[in-house]
Amino acid sequence: MSAEICKKLVEALKKRGFEAEYAATREDAVTLALAEAVDAKSVGWGGSETVKELGLREAMADAGKEIRDHQLEMDLFLLSANAVTLDGRIVNIDGRGNRVAASIAGPKRVVYLIGRNKIVDGGIDAAIDRIKRFACAPNCRRLGKRTPCAETGVCADCDSPDRICKVTAVFDRKPTGVSAKVIVVDADLGY
Ligand code: SF4
Repeated sequence: MSAEICKKLVEALKKRGFEAEYAATREDAVTLALAEAVDAKSVGWGGSETVKELGLREAMADAGKEIRDHQLEMDLFLLSANAVTLDGRIVNIDGRGNRVAASIAGPKRVVYLIGRNKIVDGGIDAAIDRIKRFACAPNCRRLGKRTPCAETGVCADCDSPDRICKVTAVFDRKPTGVSAKVIVVDADLGY
């Protein structure tokens, strides 16, 4: 069932201008990401739990890649999405906006790795609802932020100085001039 949904998303992303591929397992996702890095000298990512869970930082370092943190210029930028609608719209919410910035300009190649748990069968509102409940709250707890969601698990659209959701980016189509691929992984990854 989840394979069917992931493959449906792959087709939807292609219609929106992204290259897209299905990975049946985490291992397949790592293989596809490493294949993307063959010609890359430098690789970076945007603080992604998905990338961490896949062990991609270590895999890229082992492959001799120069690791670039907090920079916009690199050959390959790996990231995930906080949510993606089944009809292919990617949604990311940042505090600083650095991940979103790098997914639009700077890196020569952008590769998303998106686990099946990020897929929502609804519109942008459903995507944002998913992010607030299942990404922001656990992230606030993990980072020790003093926000309402860290305490209750529910978003209060807070004014806290610790608020981590300040920039919301919706990708209706692949941005012009960006070379981007999405690997949809049939596994739960990140949050
Ligand atoms: S606006 Fe505040 S309460 Fe809502 S998810 Fe973001 S940090 Fe949490």
